[in-house]
Amino acid sequence: MTTDSPLRIDHWIGNAPVASAARDEVRDPGRLADMVGLVARGGAYEVDLAVRTAAEAFRTWRETPVETRAALLRQAADLLEAEAPAVVGIMARESGMLVATNTAEIGMAANIVRDNAEAGAAFLAPEAYEDAESWVGVEKRPIGVIAAIVPWNAPIILAMRKVSPALICGNTVVVKPAPTAPIGLSLLLEKMAALFPPGVINVVHGGAEVGRALATHPLVGKVSFTGGGTVARAIMKDAAEGLKGVQFELGGNDPAIILEDADLDLAIPRIVGGAFRRSGQFCFAVKRVYAPSSLYDEVVARIRAEVDKFRVGHPLEPGVTFGPINNAGQYRALQGLLARTRASGATVEELGSWVSEKSEADGYYMRPVLVSDIDPEAELVQVEQFGPLLPVVRYDDLDAVIDSINAGELGLGSSIWTRDTDRAVAVARELETGMTFVNNAGTSRLGQKNIPFGGVKQSGIGRESSPIGLREYIDYHAINYHR
Ligand code: NAD
Repeated sequence: MTTDSPLRIDHWIGNAPVASAARDEVRDPGRLADMVGLVARGGAYEVDLAVRTAAEAFRTWRETPVETRAALLRQAADLLEAEAPAVVGIMARESGMLVATNTAEIGMAANIVRDNAEAGAAFLAPEAYEDAESWVGVEKRPIGVIAAIVPWNAPIILAMRKVSPALICGNTVVVKPAPTAPIGLSLLLEKMAALFPPGVINVVHGGAEVGRALATHPLVGKVSFTGGGTVARAIMKDAAEGLKGVQFELGGNDPAIILEDADLDLAIPRIVGGAFRRSGQFCFAVKRVYAPSSLYDEVVARIRAEVDKFRVGHPLEPGVTFGPINNAGQYRALQGLLARTRASGATVEELGSWVSEKSEADGYYMRPVLVSDIDPEAELVQVEQFGPLLPVVRYDDLDAVIDSINAGELGLGSSIWTRDTDRAVAVARELETGMTFVNNAGTSRLGQKNIPFGGVKQSGIGRESSPIGLREYIDYHAINYHR
């Protein structure tokens, strides 16, 4: 167990720390005896202070040339990378994610910040039209104060997907990290905020109460939220009071559809990585695999062999490739789903091996679970598990698989595994998801830059990343001059 004393984390408002009398403990989900931090718990007062500070900063930030804003964001991207070594271990202790995963996350977050800095000037250029009678100018204006409400599972990337487009467009932000992974994000945001004028980036800690105060504050112009559908519904109702805009990135139940001609040597490691990275806790993780009858036994055998390589333990133990679940609520939900899946008669295999065996008293540990011989309508196939349980469903009729996927409420990502490019694109077009990956379970670097990330139906409203994502952070102002 680590002997470090808990870090004390305050709110960050106007480039200064602001304490609260109440503090929340952040415990290591893999060593529950280890208190990683004591984080200020805000409420309506801190939210009001932060939003007013952000509104004041907005008056000058919006007038700052986009080139200056872009230069500051590029400095922020460099700073994120420079600070990464100092926070990746703390992030591992508060979130349960592997150090290598956290390092990669910060690198990707820095790229997102650079992409938005680069895209800003062209995106914000006004459009002009003229004829003999008049001219028309269509200008893009920032909205004002953006509330950025972030979950625990990939806090740096998910925060930078909101903060950097908001800032390049001339908005200011109040970020609310998640109570079970606030520290790494907070440390990075404090350093980053110091590059910008006071009040451009603010952070208020706390739970639902802080989120509600942000969504209902009259000076918040828009709420950008990543998290679950239940909370999204609550935010939408709260935001409706002030008729505020919302942008939501929510859950997915992403299918990986293996076609008969798939290259399994390539596909299986990528599907397993796509399903079990972050112990399955990310929105576009592969949540279910569909394998044709002709390949079913081989697919299950190959996935079993690949998943069995995981070494389970605390992310700071040498050799660990698979960490714990982030929090008690998620852990209990997954245990319930596991028990119901066992009772349903499907074949359930707990795989991987312990680096050093853990009990429930140590933390929220689960081994990776492979489920085969499962009914396509089973709960584990039809809901988003957000954890390390992977069902593999047998199919004979691809059209029926597509119909079943499209009948669901979620539509974030999907993946197709085949050697046939034309067929891949044809099947992709049939799927009601916001994104389809072919022969991988995520975006390439080109994709990170150009894909409007997000989902359809109950997987979200609006998009993040790419120039399309910038549209979430502007309003239009049109001028029609009559000659
Ligand atoms: P969550 O919805 O429980 O919490 C997210 C954030 O909302 C936290 O900061 C939380 O404190 C805050 N919050 C809670 N109640 C609130 C309220 N009433 N008003 C305002 N804010 C409130 O989500 P989670 O458990 O942290 O994350 C898991 C979910 O997020 C999964 O469903 C997952 O798929 C989804 N997710 C989606 C994406 C994406 O980009 N599409 C990315 C990551 C996670």
